[in-house]
Amino acid sequence: MSCTQCMVLKQTIRSPRQLSLAIFQIARQLKDNHLLYLGAGPWGKPFEKICEGKNWGEYVNNYFECSHCHQIIHLYAETTSGQGGQVAFLLEVKATLLK
Ligand SMILES: [Zn+2]
Repeated sequence: MSCTQCMVLKQTIRSPRQLSLAIFQIARQLKDNHLLYLGAGPWGKPFEKICEGKNWGEYVNNYFECSHCHQIIHLYAETTSGQGGQVAFLLEVKATLLK
């Protein structure tokens, strides 16, 4: 799975700036209906609360699906530990999601 539309999202996040860029990129694709929002995983805020690129909380944990190829996309970051995060492609959602 994965197509040219969603492939560009896959990335490693190493700084707050990269996290806000990843959030903006995903927010734009959601707005253009290239992505569907699946929900927030444990300790993550709903994406609509963080999509302006601030007030993330300690964990960013949101799941999306590509509307074209149905790839599951996971945006994850630990913001306090400075460990960064990633936008990863998953085969399935194992977490319980909140919309
Ligand atoms: Zn895709």
